[in-house]
Amino acid sequence: MRTSRFFISTLKEAPADAEIVSHRLMLRAGLIKRLAGGIYTWMPLGLRVVRKVEAIVRAEMNRAGAIEISMPLVQPAELWEESGRWKTYGPELLRFRDRHDRNFVIQPTSEEVVTDLARSELRSYRQLPLHLYQIQTKFRDERRPRFGIMRGREFLMKDGYSFHADHADLEREYQNMYETYTRIFTRLGLRFRAVAADTGSIGGTGSHEFHVLADSGEDAIAYSNASDYAANVELAEALAPRERRQAPGSLLKVVPTPGRKTCEDVAALLGIGLDQMVKAIALMHEGEDGSTRTFNLFLLRGDHTLNEVKAAKIPGLAPYRFATEAEIEEFMGCEAGYIGPVGINGRVRVVADRTVAQMSGFVCGANKANHHLTDVHWGRDLPEPTLIADIRNVVNGDPSPDGKGSLELCRGIEVGHIFQLRTKYSEAFRCSFLDETGQQRFMEMGCYGIGITRIVGAAIEQNHDERGIVFPDPIAPFQVAIIPIGLRKSEIVRKAAEQVYDDLISAGIETLFEDRDERPGVLFADAELVGIPHRLVIGERGLKDGLIEYQARRDTKAQRIPRGELLQFLQERLS
Ligand code: ATP
Ligand code: MG
Repeated sequence: MRTSRFFISTLKEAPADAEIVSHRLMLRAGLIKRLAGGIYTWMPLGLRVVRKVEAIVRAEMNRAGAIEISMPLVQPAELWEESGRWKTYGPELLRFRDRHDRNFVIQPTSEEVVTDLARSELRSYRQLPLHLYQIQTKFRDERRPRFGIMRGREFLMKDGYSFHADHADLEREYQNMYETYTRIFTRLGLRFRAVAADTGSIGGTGSHEFHVLADSGEDAIAYSNASDYAANVELAEALAPRERRQAPGSLLKVVPTPGRKTCEDVAALLGIGLDQMVKAIALMHEGEDGSTRTFNLFLLRGDHTLNEVKAAKIPGLAPYRFATEAEIEEFMGCEAGYIGPVGINGRVRVVADRTVAQMSGFVCGANKANHHLTDVHWGRDLPEPTLIADIRNVVNGDPSPDGKGSLELCRGIEVGHIFQLRTKYSEAFRCSFLDETGQQRFMEMGCYGIGITRIVGAAIEQNHDERGIVFPDPIAPFQVAIIPIGLRKSEIVRKAAEQVYDDLISAGIETLFEDRDERPGVLFADAELVGIPHRLVIGERGLKDGLIEYQARRDTKAQRIPRGELLQFLQERLS
C-alpha cells in the first residue's frame, strides 16, 4: 500500500477527554473516529487490525468445529418476550418501533434468535451437538460508554451458541472452547488469564472470563501466588480466618465519638487500626409491590468492603438496595454513622461476614448518636451471629480458596466470556429433541463471546511506549513500513525503494510504502505512532554500500542488512 493513496489521518494531540492510553493512541493514530458517544467509525488502518483479529478468531472457531452463521441485527420483540428478557434486560437494550408500530430490538446478543432457529431446525439427537457462531455488530446502550471502543455502545462481537443432548456433552464443548479461547488469545500475542466468573443475569452455571491483564482494566482479578486459581473479585471466595476467636477480655465501654461517622475517623480518634472496627451497612429488601420490607445489617471489618454480587446471593435479600437515612432512623432508632449490632430489635436481620464472626474486642457503633462501643465480644455483649456468610471482597494476602498460597489482586480487561447456559433458553422456547430412546428432552446450551473490537483496545493497552502503539505482529495493520529518504530527489533511492516494495509484495508481506512528500521526521513518527512492527529505511548513503537499514519497533538500534539478504532476513523475522 502506498501511503499517498491510502488514508492516514494521524493527530499530534489526542482530544482531552480520552482517559486511557489506548483510547488516546487510537485517536492519534487515526484508527477510529468518534461519531457519537460510544459510536465510532473504523478508519482504514484500524479496520485492518479488526479484520486480523477476526480472522484469527474465525480460523480457531472453525478449527474447533463451530459453524459460522449470520443472524439479523434487528430482532422482533416477541422473541424477547418469550425469553423474558424484554422485561429483565433494562435500558441497555435498544428498542424501537417499525412503521406498523411493532416492537423491535437491536441485538445485544442473540440467544433468542439462535434458540428459535434451533427449535425449528433440530429435532433429533442425531443432529446434535451443533455449535453456531457469528461475528456481528452488537448494540448495548451502556450507561457509561467510555475508553473509546473498549466500552462502546456499538461494537463487534463473536458470539457462539452450542446445543447438546446432555450436560456431559455441554461440558465437553465448554472445555473445547476453554482451550480454543486459550489458543486464540495466545495467537493474538496477548498476556491474558482465564478466571472463574459469576454467571450474572444471563443465568446458568459454569462460567469463565478471559482477561487481558492491564492496569487500566475495569475488572479486579484475584489469583493465587502458588497455584493456577484465578477468579473475578466478584466471585473470589474470602475464607474464614485461620485463627480462632480470642476469649473476652476487658468490659464493654460506651465512648463518645462526636461527629465521627466513618470507621476512619473513629479509628483515628481512638488510635486503633481499621481492622479492630466493625462497620454496619444497612441494606433493604423490598417486595415486588413495595409492601414488604426487610431491613438487613451487614457487618464487615472496618478495612473490608462489601461484595454486592455475594450480598445478592444471601437468601431473601435480592433484589436489594441501600437503606435510606430515614429508614435507618426508622429501624435502628439512631442516625446513620453510629449504628451497630448491639442491642437491636427483632425487625433487623444481622448478616456477619466470616471475618467479623471471628473478631473479639472490636469497636462498633453504639446505636446512639455521637457514640461508639469498644471491647465488644460476641456471646457476651450480643448474641452469637446466626447468619454468617462470605459477603466481602477479597484483599491482597487473603488465603487462596483452593488452599494453596495466598491471593494477589490485579486488573484485567474482559475480552472473552464462556457460559454454560444449561436449559434456561431451551425451556423458555420449548426447544427440545427426541433422544435415542424416543423421549422428548430440552437441549443443553452453552454460549461463548469474544469482544473483537475491545481486543484492539486491550492489545494497545498492553503494547505501547512513549512513541505510540507497538502492535503484536499477528494483528498489526501492516507488517513492514518502507521509509525512503529523499524519494523525490534521488533516482537511486526511488528505484531501490520501488524494487524492495515490489519484492516484499510479491513475497506476500503486507507493506506500507511511505511515498508521501513529507519530512523524514514526520514519516518516522507516523510509522512509530501507528505501531508498524518492522521498519526499513532506504537512503542513498546505505545504498552506496549495498545496505538497507532495518529496525523492529521495540529495538533501540537499527541494523544494516545487505540488499541481497533482505527478503530472507525479513521472512525469518516475520515467521
Ligand atoms: P462487561 O462486563 O465488560 O460489560 P459483559 O459481561 O456485558 O461485559 P458479555 O455479555 O459476556 O459481556 O459479552 C461478551 C464480550 O463482549 C465481553 O467479554 C466483551 O469482550 C465484549 N463486550 C461486552 N460489552 C462491550 C462493550 N460495551 N464494548 C465493547 N465490547 C464489549
Ligand atoms: Mg456489559
